[in-house]
Amino acid sequence: MPRFRTILDTMPAYKPGKAVTTPDGRSYKLSSNESPYDPLPSVVEAIAEGARQVNRYPDPGAIKLTEAIAERFGVPFEHIALGAGSVTVAQQLFETVGEPGAEVVYAWRSFEAYPLLADLSGTTSVRVPLADEQHDLDAMAEAITPETRMVFVCNPNNPTGTAVRERELVAFLDRVPQDVLVVLDEAYREYVRDESVPDGLTLYRDRPNVCVLRTFSKAYGLAGLRVGYLVGHEPVATAVRKTIIPFAVNHLAQIAAIASLKAEDELLERVDAVVKERTRVRETLIAQGWTVPPTEANFVWLRTGERTMDFAAACAVEGVAVRPFEGEGARVSIGDPEANDAFLKAAGAFLKG
Ligand SMILES: *Cc1c(COP(=O)(O)O)cnc(C)c1O
Repeated sequence: MPRFRTILDTMPAYKPGKAVTTPDGRSYKLSSNESPYDPLPSVVEAIAEGARQVNRYPDPGAIKLTEAIAERFGVPFEHIALGAGSVTVAQQLFETVGEPGAEVVYAWRSFEAYPLLADLSGTTSVRVPLADEQHDLDAMAEAITPETRMVFVCNPNNPTGTAVRERELVAFLDRVPQDVLVVLDEAYREYVRDESVPDGLTLYRDRPNVCVLRTFSKAYGLAGLRVGYLVGHEPVATAVRKTIIPFAVNHLAQIAAIASLKAEDELLERVDAVVKERTRVRETLIAQGWTVPPTEANFVWLRTGERTMDFAAACAVEGVAVRPFEGEGARVSIGDPEANDAFLKAAGAFLKG
């Protein structure tokens, strides 16, 4: 028997979300915050074209994609570091600043990848409980110690959908020591409609210890291809680039991401449609009697507590797969209107039942 790292004993094996289907064949996946739309024809065409070149290694520097991102967002080329999904970029961040004895501060509950990546890198997690389903930035500032190397602020927060506003975030950033890296995880930025929620790409500019994570997985609909990126000052981006596994961002991902930036107007129209559905879903849930935190992302959060697994089972009866966190609550992605109706039917019946 090989000797494994002891940390693996404390880490749960990955459990993939189960697809659920009704006897008459209805199946709605609202468990992973994906785009409910098929890829755009122009993007599929670009991928098909790129398929002819896969005997060659991808561009290791992803120059064209990096240039496209730099141009689109008006940031210097040197400020961008790519990875195979922003989860991988987060892992690279742990490679750059994490080590045994170091601490990382994040809200809890927040994105499930944070504790996993912290454990893998040997970094100690300091979890600061949410207050009223939102980041408690005062408590997070107080949790920073001389051992703290990095702080994650997931904005909007996965799984609650709540967002921190400019005034409170700026006040927080002003309190964080300069040698602590603040990571603004903005995986759902395109879904934000509240104008008081700041854009990390504005905030990071005059703050060398602040960086932003973005992804093509959600609004841009490329979850299956794995590409995300960091925007931060040159020392941060350079450090992250050093930790990439060679050729991690594959050729098709690079091509599809470039094509998606070209087709951004069409993609953002889809985001608008999801935002409209988000409003409808939340208002219907509230009318049914649910408490639903305001959400700036493409999902809603229901604090179902001890009934969470029963709730997930009730949704499954309607063919709806949700993301349950046992004993806490359920995160439900906004899908197309038919999927959302199936979910709303299950949610309404559950409260009555
Ligand atoms: C989905 C998500 C990501 C993006 O993951 P990818 O690896 O880019 O697919 C990053 N952060 C949060 C909080 C997410 O919910």
